[in-house]
Amino acid sequence: MTSVTADAILDRFRRVGAFLEGHFRLTSGLHSPGYLQSALVLQHPAEAEACGEAIADQVRGLGIQAVLSPAIGGIVIGQEVARALGVRAMFAERQDGTLTLRRGFAISPGEKVLVVEDVVTTGGSTRETIDVARAAGAQVVGAASIIDRSGGNQGLDVPYIALVPISLPTYHPEACPLCARGLPVVKPGSRQ
Ligand SMILES: [Zn+2]
Repeated sequence: MTSVTADAILDRFRRVGAFLEGHFRLTSGLHSPGYLQSALVLQHPAEAEACGEAIADQVRGLGIQAVLSPAIGGIVIGQEVARALGVRAMFAERQDGTLTLRRGFAISPGEKVLVVEDVVTTGGSTRETIDVARAAGAQVVGAASIIDRSGGNQGLDVPYIALVPISLPTYHPEACPLCARGLPVVKPGSRQ
């Protein structure tokens, strides 16, 4: 695949209903003009493969030897990035609330690892995954995601690339400008 623009990726999301624009009540209770559910794109293997190749194209120069993703959201895209790079894919998962390498996954000392996520919102789980990799001896050479909705505030200490930077504000209902305009609010995923 040749170079993929952010618009093309976002169109993939729109096409499968993974990016909705309007007025939404999120699980957190906050309201937002946009809703993203990357699993709806990644459920289609061809779409997942295309996203993985597009990320891989941007990180090929980093000498990556393995990909590490946080479960569950990062697993599918991590696998596809690793496939495109020809390296192995591992994931970290929560055990008693702490992100951990399980299942015999091991990282060699100094191994060059790329941390891959589907969506970076605050950067918290990416930072946690970087910490897991470093604690296992990795040299974390970068981080990547399909979507960056952090507004540049992900606070990572490694090079970070995203296919789609997007600004999606969230509002408390009482301060929501969409509510103020009288637009009906929708709960994503519910049948209308
Ligand atoms: Zn609202």
